[in-house]
Amino acid sequence: MKRIMLTGNQVFRGELILVNADHAYRGNTRRKRVDMGGTALAEVAADALCAAMEKLGGWEKIAAVSGWRSFKEQQEIWDESMRENGEAFTKKYVAVPGHSEHQTGLAIDLGLRKEEIDFIRPDFPYEGICQTFRENAAKYGFVERYPAGKENVTGIGHEPWHFRYVGAVHASLMQKEALVMEEYVPYLKRFIHGETPRKMELDGREVLVSFQKAEAFGPTEIEVDERAEVSVSGNNVDGFVVVQYIRCGMTRDRAISKLNVV
Ligand SMILES: [Zn+2]
Repeated sequence: MKRIMLTGNQVFRGELILVNADHAYRGNTRRKRVDMGGTALAEVAADALCAAMEKLGGWEKIAAVSGWRSFKEQQEIWDESMRENGEAFTKKYVAVPGHSEHQTGLAIDLGLRKEEIDFIRPDFPYEGICQTFRENAAKYGFVERYPAGKENVTGIGHEPWHFRYVGAVHASLMQKEALVMEEYVPYLKRFIHGETPRKMELDGREVLVSFQKAEAFGPTEIEVDERAEVSVSGNNVDGFVVVQYIRCGMTRDRAISKLNVV
Protein backbone atom coordinates (compact mmCIF):
# COMPACT_ATOMS: atom_id res chain seq x y z
CA MET A 1 0.00 0.00 0.00
CA LYS A 2 1.10 3.53 -0.73
CA ARG A 3 0.07 6.57 1.31
CA ILE A 4 -1.05 9.86 -0.20
CA MET A 5 -1.54 13.11 1.75
CA LEU A 6 -4.28 15.43 0.54
CA THR A 7 -4.51 19.03 1.71
CA GLY A 8 -7.74 20.86 2.52
CA ASN A 9 -7.34 23.06 -0.58
CA GLN A 10 -7.40 20.02 -2.84
CA VAL A 11 -11.11 19.58 -2.06
CA PHE A 12 -11.65 22.54 -4.39
CA ARG A 13 -9.41 21.31 -7.21
CA GLY A 14 -9.53 18.61 -9.83
CA GLU A 15 -11.62 17.49 -12.78
CA LEU A 16 -14.67 16.40 -10.76
CA ILE A 17 -15.33 19.60 -8.81
CA LEU A 18 -19.04 20.38 -8.61
CA VAL A 19 -19.60 24.04 -9.46
CA ASN A 20 -23.15 25.38 -9.37
CA ALA A 21 -25.39 27.89 -7.58
CA ASP A 22 -24.74 26.16 -4.23
CA HIS A 23 -21.01 25.60 -4.72
CA ALA A 24 -18.82 28.49 -5.84
CA TYR A 25 -15.57 27.90 -7.71
CA ARG A 26 -12.73 28.23 -5.21
CA GLY A 27 -10.00 26.52 -7.19
CA ASN A 28 -6.78 27.61 -8.75
CA THR A 29 -7.34 30.64 -10.97
CA ARG A 30 -3.76 30.50 -12.23
CA ARG A 31 -3.78 26.96 -13.58
CA LYS A 32 -2.21 26.40 -16.97
CA ARG A 33 -4.56 27.10 -19.86
CA VAL A 34 -4.30 26.47 -23.56
CA ASP A 35 -5.59 28.81 -26.25
CA MET A 36 -8.32 27.26 -28.37
CA GLY A 37 -8.53 29.89 -31.10
CA GLY A 38 -10.01 32.83 -29.24
CA THR A 39 -11.01 31.05 -26.08
CA ALA A 40 -9.02 28.98 -23.58
CA LEU A 41 -9.31 25.75 -21.60
CA ALA A 42 -7.39 24.01 -18.84
CA GLU A 43 -4.65 21.94 -20.46
CA VAL A 44 -6.19 18.55 -19.64
CA ALA A 45 -9.55 19.54 -21.14
CA ALA A 46 -7.97 21.19 -24.20
CA ASP A 47 -5.93 18.06 -24.97
CA ALA A 48 -8.99 15.82 -24.68
CA LEU A 49 -11.16 18.10 -26.80
CA CYS A 50 -8.53 18.38 -29.53
CA ALA A 51 -8.07 14.61 -29.56
CA ALA A 52 -11.83 14.12 -30.01
CA MET A 53 -12.13 16.78 -32.71
CA GLU A 54 -9.14 15.47 -34.64
CA LYS A 55 -10.49 11.94 -34.54
CA LEU A 56 -13.97 13.03 -35.66
CA GLY A 57 -12.87 15.79 -38.06
CA GLY A 58 -14.95 18.15 -35.93
CA TRP A 59 -13.11 21.47 -36.23
CA GLU A 60 -14.23 21.97 -39.83
CA LYS A 61 -17.81 22.40 -38.72
CA ILE A 62 -17.64 23.05 -34.99
CA ALA A 63 -16.30 26.16 -33.24
CA ALA A 64 -15.13 26.51 -29.63
CA VAL A 65 -17.41 29.40 -28.68
CA SER A 66 -16.61 29.98 -25.01
CA GLY A 67 -14.25 28.19 -22.64
CA TRP A 68 -12.45 29.64 -19.65
CA ARG A 69 -13.80 32.88 -18.21
CA SER A 70 -12.45 34.96 -15.36
CA PHE A 71 -14.82 36.08 -12.59
CA LYS A 72 -14.81 39.54 -14.20
CA GLU A 73 -15.81 38.19 -17.62
CA GLN A 74 -18.60 36.11 -16.09
CA GLN A 75 -19.83 39.26 -14.31
CA GLU A 76 -19.78 41.20 -17.60
CA ILE A 77 -21.71 38.44 -19.42
CA TRP A 78 -24.24 38.34 -16.57
CA ASP A 79 -24.69 42.14 -16.52
CA GLU A 80 -25.04 42.37 -20.29
CA SER A 81 -27.56 39.53 -20.43
CA MET A 82 -29.59 41.10 -17.61
CA ARG A 83 -29.73 44.37 -19.60
CA GLU A 84 -30.50 42.79 -22.96
CA ASN A 85 -32.42 39.59 -22.16
CA GLY A 86 -33.90 40.25 -18.73
CA GLU A 87 -33.77 38.38 -15.44
CA ALA A 88 -35.73 35.20 -16.32
CA PHE A 89 -33.57 34.39 -19.38
CA THR A 90 -30.33 35.27 -17.63
CA LYS A 91 -31.04 33.09 -14.60
CA LYS A 92 -31.94 30.20 -16.89
CA TYR A 93 -28.84 30.30 -19.09
CA VAL A 94 -26.13 32.30 -17.33
CA ALA A 95 -24.51 31.14 -14.09
CA VAL A 96 -24.16 33.62 -11.24
CA PRO A 97 -20.62 35.13 -11.25
CA GLY A 98 -18.37 33.02 -9.02
CA HIS A 99 -20.53 29.96 -9.68
CA SER A 100 -19.88 29.34 -13.38
CA GLU A 101 -18.28 26.14 -14.61
CA HIS A 102 -16.55 28.29 -17.20
CA GLN A 103 -14.37 29.72 -14.43
CA THR A 104 -12.85 26.26 -13.91
CA GLY A 105 -11.45 26.05 -17.46
CA LEU A 106 -13.05 22.60 -17.71
CA ALA A 107 -16.22 23.67 -19.55
CA ILE A 108 -16.68 24.53 -23.20
CA ASP A 109 -19.58 25.85 -25.24
CA LEU A 110 -19.49 24.41 -28.75
CA GLY A 111 -21.38 25.73 -31.75
CA LEU A 112 -21.89 24.90 -35.38
CA ARG A 113 -19.75 27.19 -37.50
CA LYS A 114 -21.86 29.81 -39.25
CA GLU A 115 -21.80 33.53 -40.01
CA GLU A 116 -23.30 34.58 -36.71
CA ILE A 117 -22.91 32.38 -33.68
CA ASP A 118 -25.13 33.13 -30.69
CA PHE A 119 -22.61 33.57 -27.85
CA ILE A 120 -24.97 32.55 -25.02
CA ARG A 121 -26.94 29.89 -26.86
CA PRO A 122 -24.91 28.54 -29.82
CA ASP A 123 -26.55 26.05 -32.14
CA PHE A 124 -25.43 22.49 -31.36
CA PRO A 125 -28.15 20.18 -32.70
CA TYR A 126 -28.82 16.51 -31.97
CA GLU A 127 -27.82 15.47 -35.48
CA GLY A 128 -24.88 15.45 -37.86
CA ILE A 129 -21.36 16.18 -36.63
CA CYS A 130 -22.64 17.71 -33.35
CA GLN A 131 -24.45 14.51 -32.45
CA THR A 132 -21.43 12.44 -33.46
CA PHE A 133 -19.32 14.50 -31.04
CA ARG A 134 -21.96 14.09 -28.32
CA GLU A 135 -22.09 10.32 -28.76
CA ASN A 136 -18.29 10.06 -28.49
CA ALA A 137 -17.82 12.72 -25.81
CA ALA A 138 -17.65 10.35 -22.81
CA LYS A 139 -14.75 8.42 -24.34
CA TYR A 140 -12.77 11.67 -24.30
CA GLY A 141 -13.94 12.62 -20.82
CA PHE A 142 -16.74 15.08 -21.61
CA VAL A 143 -20.40 15.10 -20.53
CA GLU A 144 -23.32 17.15 -21.75
CA ARG A 145 -23.65 19.06 -18.50
CA TYR A 146 -27.21 20.46 -18.65
CA PRO A 147 -29.43 17.88 -20.37
CA ALA A 148 -33.17 18.15 -20.95
CA GLY A 149 -35.26 16.72 -18.14
CA LYS A 150 -32.68 17.58 -15.44
CA GLU A 151 -33.33 21.33 -15.30
CA ASN A 152 -34.68 21.05 -11.75
CA VAL A 153 -31.58 19.16 -10.64
CA THR A 154 -28.91 21.32 -12.29
CA GLY A 155 -30.75 24.61 -11.83
CA ILE A 156 -29.79 25.55 -15.41
CA GLY A 157 -31.94 25.36 -18.56
CA HIS A 158 -31.31 22.70 -21.20
CA GLU A 159 -28.00 23.58 -22.89
CA PRO A 160 -27.17 21.24 -25.80
CA TRP A 161 -23.93 23.20 -26.41
CA HIS A 162 -22.27 23.10 -22.97
CA PHE A 163 -19.83 20.27 -22.28
CA ARG A 164 -17.83 19.67 -19.14
CA TYR A 165 -14.58 17.74 -18.85
CA VAL A 166 -14.62 15.21 -15.97
CA GLY A 167 -12.29 12.53 -17.39
CA ALA A 168 -13.22 9.32 -19.19
CA VAL A 169 -13.90 7.25 -16.04
CA HIS A 170 -16.43 9.66 -14.57
CA ALA A 171 -17.95 10.55 -17.95
CA SER A 172 -18.55 6.84 -18.65
CA LEU A 173 -20.07 6.21 -15.23
CA MET A 174 -22.28 9.29 -15.40
CA GLN A 175 -23.52 8.21 -18.81
CA LYS A 176 -24.11 4.62 -17.69
CA GLU A 177 -26.05 5.68 -14.58
CA ALA A 178 -27.73 8.63 -16.37
CA LEU A 179 -26.61 11.04 -13.66
CA VAL A 180 -25.72 14.73 -13.86
CA MET A 181 -22.97 16.09 -11.61
CA GLU A 182 -25.43 17.22 -8.92
CA GLU A 183 -26.48 13.54 -8.65
CA TYR A 184 -23.15 11.86 -9.38
CA VAL A 185 -21.13 13.60 -6.66
CA PRO A 186 -23.49 12.43 -3.85
CA TYR A 187 -23.90 9.02 -5.57
CA LEU A 188 -20.16 8.37 -5.18
CA LYS A 189 -20.30 8.76 -1.40
CA ARG A 190 -21.55 5.20 -0.93
CA PHE A 191 -18.32 3.85 -2.47
CA ILE A 192 -16.22 4.41 0.62
CA HIS A 193 -12.48 4.46 -0.03
CA GLY A 194 -10.75 1.36 1.29
CA GLU A 195 -14.07 -0.43 1.86
CA THR A 196 -16.58 -0.55 -0.98
CA PRO A 197 -15.15 0.93 -4.21
CA ARG A 198 -17.18 1.13 -7.42
CA LYS A 199 -15.56 -1.28 -9.85
CA MET A 200 -15.66 -0.72 -13.57
CA GLU A 201 -13.72 -1.56 -16.69
CA LEU A 202 -12.37 1.00 -19.10
CA ASP A 203 -10.40 0.10 -22.22
CA GLY A 204 -9.82 -3.36 -20.81
CA ARG A 205 -8.42 -2.08 -17.51
CA GLU A 206 -9.96 -2.59 -14.11
CA VAL A 207 -10.76 0.72 -12.44
CA LEU A 208 -11.77 1.38 -8.83
CA VAL A 209 -13.63 4.58 -7.95
CA SER A 210 -14.07 5.56 -4.32
CA PHE A 211 -14.88 8.47 -2.03
CA GLN A 212 -12.88 9.77 0.91
CA LYS A 213 -14.38 12.42 3.17
CA ALA A 214 -11.96 15.26 3.95
CA GLU A 215 -10.76 15.67 7.52
CA ALA A 216 -12.34 18.71 9.15
CA PHE A 217 -8.94 19.98 10.29
CA GLY A 218 -5.61 19.34 8.60
CA PRO A 219 -4.69 17.06 5.73
CA THR A 220 -6.40 13.78 4.82
CA GLU A 221 -4.29 10.66 4.38
CA ILE A 222 -5.38 7.84 2.09
CA GLU A 223 -3.89 4.48 1.16
CA VAL A 224 -3.87 3.28 -2.43
CA ASP A 225 -2.73 0.16 -4.24
CA GLU A 226 0.96 0.67 -5.06
CA ARG A 227 0.52 -1.14 -8.38
CA ALA A 228 -2.22 1.27 -9.43
CA GLU A 229 -2.05 4.48 -11.38
CA VAL A 230 -3.95 6.91 -9.17
CA SER A 231 -5.79 10.13 -9.80
CA VAL A 232 -7.57 12.12 -7.09
CA SER A 233 -10.00 15.01 -7.52
CA GLY A 234 -11.74 17.12 -4.94
CA ASN A 235 -15.54 17.26 -5.22
CA ASN A 236 -15.70 20.96 -4.21
CA VAL A 237 -18.05 19.98 -1.37
CA ASP A 238 -16.58 17.81 1.35
CA GLY A 239 -14.09 15.27 0.08
CA PHE A 240 -12.09 13.48 -2.56
CA VAL A 241 -12.88 11.07 -5.36
CA VAL A 242 -10.11 8.53 -5.88
CA VAL A 243 -9.65 6.68 -9.18
CA GLN A 244 -7.27 3.70 -9.24
CA TYR A 245 -6.33 2.08 -12.52
CA ILE A 246 -5.22 -1.39 -11.60
CA ARG A 247 -2.28 -2.80 -13.50
CA CYS A 248 -2.86 -6.51 -13.48
CA GLY A 249 0.03 -7.49 -15.76
CA MET A 250 -2.36 -9.27 -18.10
CA THR A 251 -1.80 -6.85 -20.94
CA ARG A 252 1.95 -7.48 -20.94
CA ASP A 253 1.49 -11.26 -20.71
CA ARG A 254 -0.98 -11.18 -23.57
CA ALA A 255 1.39 -9.09 -25.66
CA ILE A 256 4.18 -11.58 -25.04
CA SER A 257 2.07 -14.59 -25.96
CA LYS A 258 0.95 -12.78 -29.09
CA LEU A 259 4.57 -12.13 -30.01
CA ASN A 260 5.35 -15.80 -29.47
CA VAL A 261 2.59 -16.80 -31.85
CA VAL A 262 3.95 -14.48 -34.52
ZN1 LIG B 1 -21.46 27.14 -21.13
